[in-house]
Amino acid sequence: MRHAQLPIVVVGGGAAGLATALAMAPAPVRLLCRAHDGRGSASALAQGGIAAALDPRDSAAAHAADTLIAGAQHNDVAMVQWLAAGAPAAIAWLQAQGVVFDRDAQGCLQLGREGGHSAARIVHAGGDASGAALVHALRARVQEAAHVQWRGGVDVDGLLLREGCVAGVRTRDERGRHERIEASTVVLATGGIGALYARTSNPPGADGAGLALGLAAGAAARDLEFVQFHPTALDVPGHCLPLITEALRGAGARLHDGGGHALMAGVHPLGDLAPRDVVARRVAAEQAAGGRVWLDATGVDGDWARRFPTVLAACCAHGFDPRRVALPVTPAAHFHMGGLATDADGRTSVPGLYAVGEVACNGVHGANRLASNSLLEGVLGGRRLGELLANTPVPAPGSGPLRVVERGESLPPAQLAALHALLWQAAGPVREARALRDAWRVCAALAEAGWQARLAKALLRAMRLRRHSLGAHWRQDRGCPR
Ligand SMILES: Cc1cc2nc3c(=O)[nH]c(=O)nc-3n(C[C@H](O)[C@H](O)[C@H](O)COP(=O)(O)OP(=O)(O)OC[C@H]3O[C@@H](n4cnc5c(N)ncnc54)[C@H](O)[C@@H]3O)c2cc1C
Repeated sequence: MRHAQLPIVVVGGGAAGLATALAMAPAPVRLLCRAHDGRGSASALAQGGIAAALDPRDSAAAHAADTLIAGAQHNDVAMVQWLAAGAPAAIAWLQAQGVVFDRDAQGCLQLGREGGHSAARIVHAGGDASGAALVHALRARVQEAAHVQWRGGVDVDGLLLREGCVAGVRTRDERGRHERIEASTVVLATGGIGALYARTSNPPGADGAGLALGLAAGAAARDLEFVQFHPTALDVPGHCLPLITEALRGAGARLHDGGGHALMAGVHPLGDLAPRDVVARRVAAEQAAGGRVWLDATGVDGDWARRFPTVLAACCAHGFDPRRVALPVTPAAHFHMGGLATDADGRTSVPGLYAVGEVACNGVHGANRLASNSLLEGVLGGRRLGELLANTPVPAPGSGPLRVVERGESLPPAQLAALHALLWQAAGPVREARALRDAWRVCAALAEAGWQARLAKALLRAMRLRRHSLGAHWRQDRGCPR
């Protein structure tokens, strides 16, 4: 067992952080999070659900094969096999934690089908409110757990290092007060980077702060160039846009241009259910040509309030009733396949620092994530890491001085908005060398002004270095057809 003097600190209250903290019992954990109430995570917004080969006609091997195809074979094969094999147990564990998944009339788990999956294997809850159900249940378990101390309302903006090892965090509360928390181990479960883009399906807090912190501490990164763009966010003014789940197209909704012509006709054999990057590029091309794209879901039958309550509520809030009118849609930054490089257990290259969930990159998603594999990765990866840390003896803390590695100041709001627009333009669904170079130069010039510029510079560097298209990274200039 580990030394009990210092707690383990987990940063992040999404699926990955919650699963990690729960699995660490009985080792003491401090779970630090920006939100007081568990909101603000991408996990809570997840709509489609969680992939698991549960149908007797399905198999973990088929789930793994689909994951590798989606990832353009850039994936770590062992990690993919681990993910697919562990999925049924992850669903059972979530049920044991109180997540109630939707069932059919016979009482069996309902299995949905999404783009890229060769079988119906998406387990969902509350129709399209899967993530909210998951976070609600896991957060309730965390609040009951005697070994976890939850602290909301804090931004972790620094890492403490002693003798080259991570030895804690520095927090900043809503009044700007700093506090140092020493820890035996620090786990970053801080989510993705979608909110660095001008158009995103992610919450505002998915700003890459954890990734920036890890990089500032010298942790190695991997696959930073691979960002997934979802083709159908609601095209309304704003930065963080409501997502229109792919399941709607699975249920018969169709994309068309301003003239009413089928958008995906002749583009891909799977039409509207082509891979996300293919559809996203087609929508982006229509927009670049000055057009607008619409998703017509008026033909989708059934009980919207039960099947798609999240989409229905979000669209109605913006004045669109999807049962009656076509919805304007746009691509939006959705998921980061890259992140802090970790091994299978979540170790980064910096001793004492671990990463799990979307902020981490263990290679499982390759160059493009298969739909509904990320909550699964967060849950499985979090449990694996939590159990490991609970059972790993740690040496007594060193006696050297503590050093703070800071993420640094944020860009002023106007410059931050300009950076979001720049990334959308240069590092979006379609990329080319000159725009990437120019954007990198802008970020390099801004690097001292704010941490987001330094992070964007690192992302752009990776995008410039990969000169050919692969998965979600599409190089218009040197790209090869998919
Ligand atoms: C709209 C939408 C729909 C999706 N649908 C699905 C789906 O159906 N199935 C699926 O598998 N995936 C889906 N995804 C992707 C999936 O939700 C995410 O990849 C996954 O939830 C990430 O989990 P996480 O725990 O790593 O990060 P998050 O859930 O984003 O949690 C990160 C946490 O870290 C906190 N945090 C961040 N930085 C700091 C800091 N500096 N200090 C303190 N706290 C910090 C945040 O407040 C948050 O609590 C969807 C994503 C979105 C946005």
